[in-house]
Amino acid sequence: MESLVNHLLHQGVVKSESIVHVLKQVDRSKYVPPGLPPYDDRPMPIGDGQTISAPHMHAQALELLERFLKPGCRALDVGCGSGYLSACMGRLVSPTGTVIGIENRQSLVDLASSNIQSSNEADLITDGQPVIQIRLGDGWTGEGFQYEQFDAIHVGAAAETIPDTLLGSLKSPGRMVIPVGPQWGSQTFLVVDKADDGSITQTELMSVMYVPLERPVTASSPRSRGL
Ligand code: SAH
Repeated sequence: MESLVNHLLHQGVVKSESIVHVLKQVDRSKYVPPGLPPYDDRPMPIGDGQTISAPHMHAQALELLERFLKPGCRALDVGCGSGYLSACMGRLVSPTGTVIGIENRQSLVDLASSNIQSSNEADLITDGQPVIQIRLGDGWTGEGFQYEQFDAIHVGAAAETIPDTLLGSLKSPGRMVIPVGPQWGSQTFLVVDKADDGSITQTELMSVMYVPLERPVTASSPRSRGL
């Protein structure tokens, strides 16, 4: 793990001391399925066609959000999957902050929760007032978090457009990092800043490839009709 973090340092992906520290602290082997190489810098399957993102993308997201992941901050991790990034965010905002991890699949709510529970970050999810809460919800509708406001938002799946609910959930000031673009097409990693006066700035960082942020299934949607 040490050599993976050194590799990310040499590549210039991470610079902040606090992010380097958390990447060394939170052990990816507790979040990557057994039998797969946890410290290779590439995404790995976590079941249900989903992936744990590559270490350099996790590192990049944390580095960009660092200013909004101080102790006491509130963070949202949409599409928390393996739970790895929620755990890193939890360590950074603890002991007084909160991380809400949202998943639209119950199987991955269970996976994220059990991964965190069996890791060195278990204290963050099991204590009386847990820092990390993993919830079933949806990044488009805001189910699971819609009446809450966050300093930092990470979206772990690519949306065709920035969901309004997420923009509305961002504090002033606050920052969101989100991959935006068509399913399996050309996607861009965006940094979305909300200033003190509520104005929004978007910065395009780089081309990326993420699994899609899926639209919720409704009675009339193709998925629910088995198409
Ligand atoms: N960041 C995680 C997982 C990335 S994969 C990790 O690195 O482990 C993207 C995740 O987004 C998947 O777990 C998928 O189930 C979830 N997802 C897809 N659409 C979603 C939606 N509309 N709302 C919430 N989660 C969603």
